Amino acid sequence: MPTVEEVRDALTVVIDPELHRSIVELDMVRRIDIGKDGDVAVTVSLTTSGCPIRGQFQGAVHDAVMGLGGVSSVSVDFDVLDDEQKAALRSKLGRTELPEGALAQVQNVVCIGSGKGGVGKSTLTTNLAAALRAEGRTVGVLDADVWGYSIPRMLGLGAERPQVSPARKIIPLDANGIAVMSIGFFVDEDAAVVWRGPMLHKALKQFLEDVEWGALDFLLIDLPPGTGDVSMTLAQLLPMATFVIVTTPQAAAQRVARRAAEMANKVSLEISGVIENMAAFVTPSGERFNIFGEGGGQALADELDVPLLASVPLTMPLREQSDAGVPLVATDPDDPAAQAIRHAARGLIALAPPPPQRASAPIGMALPMAG
Ligand code: ADP
Repeated sequence: MPTVEEVRDALTVVIDPELHRSIVELDMVRRIDIGKDGDVAVTVSLTTSGCPIRGQFQGAVHDAVMGLGGVSSVSVDFDVLDDEQKAALRSKLGRTELPEGALAQVQNVVCIGSGKGGVGKSTLTTNLAAALRAEGRTVGVLDADVWGYSIPRMLGLGAERPQVSPARKIIPLDANGIAVMSIGFFVDEDAAVVWRGPMLHKALKQFLEDVEWGALDFLLIDLPPGTGDVSMTLAQLLPMATFVIVTTPQAAAQRVARRAAEMANKVSLEISGVIENMAAFVTPSGERFNIFGEGGGQALADELDVPLLASVPLTMPLREQSDAGVPLVATDPDDPAAQAIRHAARGLIALAPPPPQRASAPIGMALPMAG
């Protein structure tokens, strides 16, 4: 049977997705009771009573404690930090207010990265978003490719600027049901923006914390190519995010993509899969050309021991629709490239953890008269 201290130690792996620290370090573990049959009851104090991340905490606390030897069941109760505790938390974090949950209702954050530019990362991000949408999922896209932002153009968003809500949150723009945020909404299209480390960190933090993303099944983040600052920043801000790596089929590209994978591993972001793009071009008469080689995506996926989510062929409509500002998946879902991307989207859905209400974890209940 574990001791209270051992349970507390095990809970250090449960990270508050908004405050980016463990619930133990944040003093949010209010009570730990260990029954004689190995029944463990944990009470976690939340920052707000309607905290939508409750479900996430529930699963994470359950799994962390269940992993200890001698535990037969885990129940998780919640209460809310009182004003004094909130004040203590604010001063501990050195901030004047606690985040009110911009990302609190986002179930899955998926970063789309590549080793180098021009491999179709943004094209895939926008089309994956449209494909997830077509599967009935709520989706947002954050264009974090701050040097080469192309998401607004690919989703047909022009000169419109995002509004600010009464609660002083930035409201994402809507592109056919996809919530979109991009640095491109705030700078002139042709302006050269020089982003230095701290400013970049601040901008990304703001996009994650001060944007009213609302309830989303998926937030897709289009990373800049390579392994630089942005990925590091996001990894710090989003310990729960997963990573999808885009590569072209030739062996040389695969080597470059592997570096992106190494970076993801270094910052402990889980890689959920590889998408190979610009695979064989097939002429209308059925002739096949492996313009960018073949097999690289599968080889990389095998090497990383993750699934190849799709191999997306080169097709002219995919490029044309990106230029026209409406994803091909929405206009011609049967195009071979669109079909492959829809396949990848279904893969992402299959890989996503089930939403909390469907989790099989035993659910603890606090009776109103208790305590
Ligand atoms: P990245 O975001 O990796 O820099 P983009 O998504 O901007 O790359 O793609 C680069 C160019 O290649 C764009 O013009 C895009 O329309 C085109 N493209 C990407 N994937 C394909 C494909 N499978 N078939 C045809 N054109 C593609």
